[in-house]
Amino acid sequence: MTVLVKPQKLDDLKVREFRMLIDGKWVEGVETGTIERIAPSHGVTVSRYAAGTKDDANRAIAAARNAFDNGPWPRMTASERSGILLKAADLISARADELAHLDAIEAGKPITQVRGEIAGAVDIWRYAAALARDLHGESYNTLGEGTMGVVLREAIGVVSIITPWNFPFLIVSQKLPFALAAGCTAVVKPSELTSGSTLVLGEILIEAGVPAGVVNILAGTGADVGAPMTSHPDVDMISFTGSTQIGRLTMANAAQTLKKVSLELGGKNPQIVFPDANLEEFVDAAVFGAYFNAGECCNAGSRLILHRDIASDVTARIAALSEKVKVGDPLDPTTQVGAIITPQHLKKIQGYVSGAAQDGATVAHGGSQIDFGMGQFMTPTILSGVKPEMAVAREEVFGPVLSVLTFETTEEAIRIANSIDYGLSAGVWSSDFDTCMTIGRKVRAGTVWMNTFMDGASELPFGGYQQSGLGRELGRHAVEDYTETKTLNMHIGRRTGWWMPR
Ligand code: NDP
Repeated sequence: MTVLVKPQKLDDLKVREFRMLIDGKWVEGVETGTIERIAPSHGVTVSRYAAGTKDDANRAIAAARNAFDNGPWPRMTASERSGILLKAADLISARADELAHLDAIEAGKPITQVRGEIAGAVDIWRYAAALARDLHGESYNTLGEGTMGVVLREAIGVVSIITPWNFPFLIVSQKLPFALAAGCTAVVKPSELTSGSTLVLGEILIEAGVPAGVVNILAGTGADVGAPMTSHPDVDMISFTGSTQIGRLTMANAAQTLKKVSLELGGKNPQIVFPDANLEEFVDAAVFGAYFNAGECCNAGSRLILHRDIASDVTARIAALSEKVKVGDPLDPTTQVGAIITPQHLKKIQGYVSGAAQDGATVAHGGSQIDFGMGQFMTPTILSGVKPEMAVAREEVFGPVLSVLTFETTEEAIRIANSIDYGLSAGVWSSDFDTCMTIGRKVRAGTVWMNTFMDGASELPFGGYQQSGLGRELGRHAVEDYTETKTLNMHIGRRTGWWMPR
């Protein structure tokens, strides 16, 4: 059983129409096509965007290039840039309800959850505004009488920012404010499925005082608009979040002109649980980690690695709590799990569940589609008896599906955790300090949570090992990622060269 929240009809919904932001103006695409977004929860059109093309990408890149090379943004004082970012944060906060509604209806995400994401985004914009004023290089007064060295941090230039559909506003907020804080200009492409809140961000940034051409926002598909953003010679850096497959393609495109690349890709994140853990707290975190955002989350705790002695008891407790999870209408404030992003994606998730059953796993809970007569939804699902070599234990399902594996020794748990290509995040549950620290140091992942799961803060860097990505977002180094380092090597006094006597 699952607690169902049937979606209410959207009788008074006004379809939102969006254009693209290029060089400070809201424009149609060079071609006249449009993209219709059908709400994954309600099956009706909720937004229309201009369908951008390569020509639009070229226009946007030219505007960003000109704004960087000739405009005021990189030349302002950090204090001025910081002030504009703080204003943007205030305006995001003022329009939080509108932004939350757009992300909820376009992505099928629970409204209460999205409100939290928008509040988190406001905090990130404020944090980036603070870092803008602390960006500095180094000086070396230790190189001898005749030498002084200064290391500058300069904005890298034009940044292509490409974001996915699962956290539309939060993910653009993990990238854009830091690029702006450094003095960069940007071309932003949200997913064609969830472009609304990013386009509203364009209105906010204009109102906050970001000059024309500094932030350009395109609508359109990855093939039409995203690909040119990764190969254009006038782009200096790419910041991408999405699938590992497109991440690889992005890196290959960027290699042609040797752009800097920052990639935040997939994950298959383990939670390792020892018998001495606080199991009540863990069970809650397991359910949260697996079903938060319908499991459409790179950080999802989709792989439980339970000590054999507790595996069947803990699995039963997780199944019991899974029954209480409220699934359905993303606009109902009590909903915890919303819709699946597209019908094709639901099919992909169900393919993983049936494939796991064929491979010998047991569907211990859920596993089925929910029919509300509109949209696409799925029950929270638990697969037990999963073996490390099964596809469902190694690949990113990106749905509300929890795989349960078991271990006997700490070494075996670490081996299983590290046996896949990903390395984004991991969790360890134990009341023993040594156990937590051993796992924390030996699991190859960008974040390891100890006796908690999927917590975060603007101050804490986020990113992956191995095929989960390159580089880190958030944290105090996030601004530096959008800079080049320049050395000023200065001579004091008469210079003695290679042909002059020393
Ligand atoms: P993609 O990697 O396809 O999309 C991410 C972004 O890249 C979107 O804006 C997309 O545009 C764009 N894009 C697509 N093709 C190209 C291209 N050739 N060049 C440049 N940009 C491109 O992810 P999907 O959204 O299709 O999801 C597929 C799978 O990826 C999921 O099932 C999940 O496993 C994983 N994923 C991981 C995420 C994470 O946070 N780590 C986030 C999202 C997905 P558009 O969508 O408009 O075509």
